[in-house]
Amino acid sequence: MTRGIVAVAAVAALAVAGCTSDEPGTATTAPKRNFQPGADGVGDPYFPKYGNGGYDVRNYALKLKYDPRSDELSGTATVTAVATADLSRFNLDFSGLSVSSVSVNGKPATEAREEAELVVTPGAGIAKDAEFTVEVAYAGKPAPIQSADLGEGGFLHTDDGAIALGQPESASSWFPVNDHPTDKATYDIEIAVPQGLEALSNGVPGEKADADGWTTWKWSEKVPMASYLAYLAIGEYRVETSTHNGKPMVIAIPESLPEGGDAEDSMARTGEIVDFLETQFGPYPFEAYGGVVVDDDRIGYALETQSRPVYGGVWFKQNRNLVVVAHELAHQWFGDSVSIAQWKDIWLNEGFASYAEWLWTEKDGGPSVQESFQQEYDDTDWQNPTADPGRTGIFSRAVYKRGALTVHALRLTIGDDDFFNLLKTWTAEKRNGNAATADFVTVAERVSGESLDGFFDRWLIGDTPPEIPR
Ligand code: ZN
Repeated sequence: MTRGIVAVAAVAALAVAGCTSDEPGTATTAPKRNFQPGADGVGDPYFPKYGNGGYDVRNYALKLKYDPRSDELSGTATVTAVATADLSRFNLDFSGLSVSSVSVNGKPATEAREEAELVVTPGAGIAKDAEFTVEVAYAGKPAPIQSADLGEGGFLHTDDGAIALGQPESASSWFPVNDHPTDKATYDIEIAVPQGLEALSNGVPGEKADADGWTTWKWSEKVPMASYLAYLAIGEYRVETSTHNGKPMVIAIPESLPEGGDAEDSMARTGEIVDFLETQFGPYPFEAYGGVVVDDDRIGYALETQSRPVYGGVWFKQNRNLVVVAHELAHQWFGDSVSIAQWKDIWLNEGFASYAEWLWTEKDGGPSVQESFQQEYDDTDWQNPTADPGRTGIFSRAVYKRGALTVHALRLTIGDDDFFNLLKTWTAEKRNGNAATADFVTVAERVSGESLDGFFDRWLIGDTPPEIPR
């Protein structure tokens, strides 16, 4: 072993560019201001340009219109943010679409485009700690994003509408955004589509309104959300709205998939699976539930979009598939409510979501967690690290399955009581926040009272099979 996991994660302390200490203002002298440009990225080692420095977004209010006949998206994004530094200008991540105007606090601002960045220069500097709003009017034909050999993400024009979806990035293909999981914000999304089509997104549904051949759908995500979890699904869907635990549950199935088929069958188990996961992980963290199945060959995956995952139809073509539902719903705690600090921490999402597959499988009468663990252990290639898996390794088996092995080995090491207490403590303490691998080690050691550095080194990054705890 060449490096320790705690040391590796400690260097991961997030670079929030432009973060300076408070100026010591007095009652009589205004603080001296030195307005500087915000950084063009948050400095994530895998994706240095993702996100931007100098501000923290509180809310995105999107008022959009999409016409699948012309593939034209248009509208305005109002971004409410707080400056974390004295800003002369700042960036938003935004690709493709044409910007017609930008204002800051209602006053015209200058805009420039630099690759996937929108550079906004307000008429006057923005003081640290000031709240400000940016309004961007834009239009055009949205284009998908090719990110980092990780496949196509972002806005896809489909046969009957569109799907905006993708990890590690997608948002910047349809709205200007601070596109890194560390800047979580609430969202109010209005999307007008030709009457007769459905338009799904995150969170609680609002009132629909019809006018002049268009239907405006409204969605609001009231709990802070990482930008890659924002999505749109537009097209012909059967949408069912119900209530679960007093909160709205929205299930959407494409018209192209059979009524009463495997997709519908699997989605119908959402409430039951969430309720089971609540017993393992603690209270469900959001204000809405549901699932959206999409039918487009380019979506060969599912994504844990906040409060309502999106599932590629491929998951349900052969059979109902509850394991993927358990996986995406587990992400509501691990990934969505507790978000990663940097992309190299992604096993904190995928390891736990994969572990939830084993928990659900056991609960549903299949193989025990111990059996799933042993099978995966026997098949594992220990050369591939789970923590810091490399930029193109963020969806690797080592992240998902060796991550789940680590979680179960931890359970075997500290015992069931401490383990489930740890999961609930973690999701409660880090709720709506961000966390790194080193933070998890810290909380695990505190809850269990055991020293676990060596344990995490062996299970997350060691290159030989670790001894299975008994
Ligand atoms: Zn996952």
